[in-house]
Amino acid sequence: MSDSIPMPRVRVATTSLAGCFGCHMSFLDMDERLLDLAKVVEFDRSPLTDIKHCGPCDIGLIEGGVCNAENVHVLREFRRNCKTLVAVGACAINGGLPAQRNHLDLGDCLQQVYVKRDGVEDGGVPDDPELPLLLDRVHPIHEVVRVDYFIPGCPPSGDAIWTFLTDLIGGRTPRLPHPLLHFD
Ligand code: SF4
Repeated sequence: MSDSIPMPRVRVATTSLAGCFGCHMSFLDMDERLLDLAKVVEFDRSPLTDIKHCGPCDIGLIEGGVCNAENVHVLREFRRNCKTLVAVGACAINGGLPAQRNHLDLGDCLQQVYVKRDGVEDGGVPDDPELPLLLDRVHPIHEVVRVDYFIPGCPPSGDAIWTFLTDLIGGRTPRLPHPLLHFD
């Protein structure tokens, strides 16, 4: 019988705010390394689990910017519960593609999409009370909460996410070598 003491696994939560899930796809691009990760990581809220609210975690990975009231709520919940919060990808870091609407009037945008678009008849802007309230602009997450680390890219590669996580979990300050930095 082994006399080694099992180490507690690192608890990790992930979520997508105003993002396209491409950064989560990159996470899956770690391929078979996910099996190694699973030996040291336990997932809290993430697309891999059915957990609805983030509990106390060591690491929170955020994809996407902040475009509505629900995004603000989820982001604050992650910040409250995660010792280390990481902005993953361009949308979380600077708003990314969704932030292109920041140059336009929000009301005009909604009218264009739901009312005036070719082929739309009797359209109307959705106003179900359960829909989260849109913010007038899309914010990078550091404008709402304190962020500890940023992994650039659209999306960052699976190699970049692997390098970052293994450094962080291993107790080293994460440093991405230049070939792993993507801005395209
Ligand atoms: Fe998608 Fe790129 Fe935004 Fe990631 S950074 S959520 S891949 S658009």
